[in-house]
Amino acid sequence: MKLVTIRTFQNYFSAHILLTRLRDAGIECFLKDEFTVTVDPILSNAVGGIKLVVLKEQEQEANKLLSQFDEAYKQTAVCPRCGSRSIDLVPKQTTANLATAILTWLFGNYAISAKNVYQCTECKYESESFPEAFNTQCIDADEKNLN
Ligand SMILES: [Zn+2]
Repeated sequence: MKLVTIRTFQNYFSAHILLTRLRDAGIECFLKDEFTVTVDPILSNAVGGIKLVVLKEQEQEANKLLSQFDEAYKQTAVCPRCGSRSIDLVPKQTTANLATAILTWLFGNYAISAKNVYQCTECKYESESFPEAFNTQCIDADEKNLN
């Protein structure tokens, strides 16, 4: 039985969501180094994160499913500023990046989320959290209250 790593994660939650979804789709898969990373996040960088592994013969099918999940997930993003559905995950371009790099090195996955931001390809709006469609209304309401 040959196992191949198809994706790595810095956090337990994302790893488990995809593990469950792949298993539901009939893919036999496992998480490797989950225990090490969860118990001691500082070791996450040392071991290379939590690895999602599948059987070699299901590798192609699993990768295809992962792309579909990613695409579907991206479709739910809406720019709160201009309403565009074209959102990409990009590295954050600020001076805070050095601090983030140090924090990430020290605390592993607790600081890693600040490294990338979701950016609207239309108006360049940036958000550190995933701009889901249902969040847009809350943000709109807040802005109206401020004005
Ligand atoms: Zn936008």
